Amino acid sequence: MVDNYSRYQKNLNLEDLFPVLSGVCACGCGNLLDNPRKKWYSNKCRDNSYIQFAIIKGNTGIIRKLLYQLDQGACRNCGVITPNWQADHILPVSNGGGACGISNFQTLCQDCHKEKTNNMVK
Ligand SMILES: [Zn+2]
Ligand SMILES: [Zn+2]
Repeated sequence: MVDNYSRYQKNLNLEDLFPVLSGVCACGCGNLLDNPRKKWYSNKCRDNSYIQFAIIKGNTGIIRKLLYQLDQGACRNCGVITPNWQADHILPVSNGGGACGISNFQTLCQDCHKEKTNNMVK
């Protein structure tokens, strides 16, 4: 089961996220499987699904790597580029944004991250 209110999904298995479907690719692309493929339509389907799984499971290394590819370490709020950027949940974990894909993450500098956190506490 996917738990949207936790940062890490320790007990999540790949099969919870992408159950094996008979005859159709498990990634959700809708492509029909050719023999001898049993689960994924292509290696790309498999790789993308593994990445998606790692993000939702809360693998910080993968999340930071993907986010850096998107934003190159530039804060989405103020635009400053810093080596100390932080991966921020756009929809906070406390509001159900825990088990989300990379689209729920944004790069923030430490100042903007602090400000966002403070505003949420108020
Ligand atoms: Zn697929
Ligand atoms: Zn900033």
